[in-house]
Amino acid sequence: MTSLTASHAADLVAALLFILSLAGLSQHRTSRSGVVYGIAGMALALVATVVMAAQSITAGAVALIVLAMALGAATGLWRARRVEMTQMPELIAVLHSFVGLAAVLVGWNSYLEVEAHGTAQTRIGADLLGIHHAEVFIGIFIGAVTFTGSVVAFLKLSARIKSRPLMLPGKNALNVGALVAFVALTIWFTVSPNLPLMIAVTVLALALGWHLVASIGGGDMPVVVSMLNSYSGWAAAAAGFLLDNNLLIVTGALVGSSGAYLSYIMCKAMNRSFLSVIAGGFGIEAPSGGKEEQGEHREVRAAEAAEMLARARSVIITPGYGMAVAQAQHPVAELTRQLRDRGVDVRFGVHPVAGRLPGHMNVLLAEAKVPYDIVLEMDEINDDFADTSVVLVIGANDTVNPAATEDPSSPIAGMPVLRVWEAEHVVVFKRSMASGYAGVQNPLFFRENSSMLFGDAKQSVEEILRALTADGRHQESAATRQATTAGR
Ligand code: NDP
Repeated sequence: MTSLTASHAADLVAALLFILSLAGLSQHRTSRSGVVYGIAGMALALVATVVMAAQSITAGAVALIVLAMALGAATGLWRARRVEMTQMPELIAVLHSFVGLAAVLVGWNSYLEVEAHGTAQTRIGADLLGIHHAEVFIGIFIGAVTFTGSVVAFLKLSARIKSRPLMLPGKNALNVGALVAFVALTIWFTVSPNLPLMIAVTVLALALGWHLVASIGGGDMPVVVSMLNSYSGWAAAAAGFLLDNNLLIVTGALVGSSGAYLSYIMCKAMNRSFLSVIAGGFGIEAPSGGKEEQGEHREVRAAEAAEMLARARSVIITPGYGMAVAQAQHPVAELTRQLRDRGVDVRFGVHPVAGRLPGHMNVLLAEAKVPYDIVLEMDEINDDFADTSVVLVIGANDTVNPAATEDPSSPIAGMPVLRVWEAEHVVVFKRSMASGYAGVQNPLFFRENSSMLFGDAKQSVEEILRALTADGRHQESAATRQATTAGR
């Protein structure tokens, strides 16, 4: 009884720590403490679960749990230390797939346990058997959708498969048909549970998860990633019901609802229908492609860009995924310092889906110690481009694509973008004329006021810094010469 009360108290404290963690993670300044609360909550939850389990299972089973935890912790630490910031979204997708797979295994285990022992040796009362069967089915369904959906997201994010949407004939009918079949199978299973139905629902959900995410185009992947985050939460909550673990239910519900809310916010930011995206691109037509070149582009060298910056009154930097690939955030921060020292007004414009995960650019800029107060969201800065001397587009592409606002047939039509082309000069840092993640050509590159600065973004920014430093020295020595001449 005492240990049960202690376990409930531990569950409650862990749940509170998770809530504090979410609150902390919602702001830059408190995000570190948010991470610490999360780690503390998870450590407490794990210890409490193992201590509770140890009272009703054999020493061998406890040893197995501890071994599994040690293996998991070692693998997690090894991957987390090695992972590049650009690989984070893929890693998150893989982790979501584990949650989905775990929910499927828990569901199957729970079914087989009842089949083997009846309700006598389980915690389930005979009168609750129907509810238990429904829980098994729902848990397996959500888990399997999350599993294959996350695997496809991983393959797309790591560029192992194309990010373009899969357009099977009648794709909407396929998705709706799968949902209807699931409901029918669940009713059948609660009345007459059997192995073929278990296999049928698992295969159906695995196929649906695959199809849902494969049908989403590159531009909508951010929403899919946060949606899978939400699904993984619901899968964990379903597993919590089957394992009779209150903390897993609470944690799953927290992850599920915060993920759903994040998906909703991202859909609003991208002007997409929430329902259409969670239904696997329901109602979205095949994109019209648009990889063709759209005119002549101009090139600029780092030294010329440095001259442009030295003369500028105001500069806005819009970073994108290429800044993360090049790890250019440190030289970009240094460039910002130098320009501000020269009296140039420098600010950053961050698109909500720039990079490959929510807040990707904010994390990189914070790491490079760029002051928070000059890092602005898209809505805060979009009206200021028209009054800006130079915009540096550092490894961004889809998030600064005017086709989103000007070409209704574009696959990214309607998505709000940073209106960088309204500035006096735009310098685009990238390595080639290749399209961005959504696979759409960018008319910005061919505008009169745009110039391409080809090469790795980090090297290009470092070259600009060298040119600026040389220019600074040149100006200093000219000023010293003038002062000396005046003194004579
Ligand atoms: P994009 O992915 O559209 O484009 C990035 C550009 O960076 C490429 O055109 C590439 O061009 C350039 N680049 C790559 N490496 C380097 C390098 N070393 N040096 C210089 N340039 C480089 O970037 P955005 O950030 O503008 O857009 C993000 C896209 O990702 C959107 O479509 C968004 O929907 C999607 N997405 C976002 C997620 C999120 O949560 N934020 C999640 C999943 C997808 P080149 O090869 O020529 O150098």
